[in-house]
Amino acid sequence: MTLIYRDARFLLHKTGAHPECPQRLTAIHSRLERSGLLQRCSQQDVVLAGDDDILRVHSERHLDSIRKFSKAGGGRIEVDTVMSPESAEVAILAAGAAVDAVSKVINGVDSTALCLVRPPGHHAVPDGPMGFCLFGNAAIAARAAVRRLGLDRVLIVDWDVHHGNGTQDVFYEDEQVGFFSAHRFPFYPGTGRKSETGGGSGLGTTFNLPLQFGISRLDYLSAFENLLTRAADSIKPDLIIISAGFDAHAEDPVGSLGLETQDFQKLTELVMQVANTHCDGRLVSILEGGYNVDRLADCVEVHLETLLGE
Ligand SMILES: [Zn+2]
Repeated sequence: MTLIYRDARFLLHKTGAHPECPQRLTAIHSRLERSGLLQRCSQQDVVLAGDDDILRVHSERHLDSIRKFSKAGGGRIEVDTVMSPESAEVAILAAGAAVDAVSKVINGVDSTALCLVRPPGHHAVPDGPMGFCLFGNAAIAARAAVRRLGLDRVLIVDWDVHHGNGTQDVFYEDEQVGFFSAHRFPFYPGTGRKSETGGGSGLGTTFNLPLQFGISRLDYLSAFENLLTRAADSIKPDLIIISAGFDAHAEDPVGSLGLETQDFQKLTELVMQVANTHCDGRLVSILEGGYNVDRLADCVEVHLETLLGE
């Protein structure tokens, strides 16, 4: 049945003339409504994340400054990141959806969930916003899974075209949450080298797959499968979280790594296979980037259809 999190309030994070805009979700919603896929999903209420959930990943200073900035009317809070008066609450709802999805999947309500949220999260660092992101939705969900819901091991799979530097920072020295990222390199934000593999007790739990622009789709997919399999065999996750960005699509105006829409079916299948092998298919997918709104709608449709098992 795939649990689905969608809410009109995610449109209230207004960014002006910016690639990360409400139209991204509007396009997804109208596509899913027309496709008939929504009737096969179980729609979930979106609730705010608790401060405790956010503070397992971010500093109190960061949470306070996001709230204050919204209250003061918003504007550009970071070189690439814009907020409106509603953005703080919307960002806390995005984190809340991710946490609720993880909680329901762990409790067996369903084995898969898709969170159609914004703003995205994987660039947000523990002490600040970055790259369109305010709070690390996937990181907050993974921490809740381990610290509040008692899981031993979680693997975050990030196929957004940009390296998930924020997520990597949070878990770099964490032995319980593994991080796998396939991304264009060299590219924004500059991190994600192969040699970044974790530190301290988290040494060996970070798996980076930097890929050069121009790589063939076949080479991308086979490199993805190889390192993902290795990461999962090493982490042995009880749950997998996908940082699902769709900006590696060939027609994406911000990213692009030459992928076509049907490649996101293959990526979804690969992660589902790994989830079936290690954790009874438990999989929570959280929207990150994707800035060609029509291609984004195509990709999310294919992704959801695959999650539903068609
Ligand atoms: Zn991205």
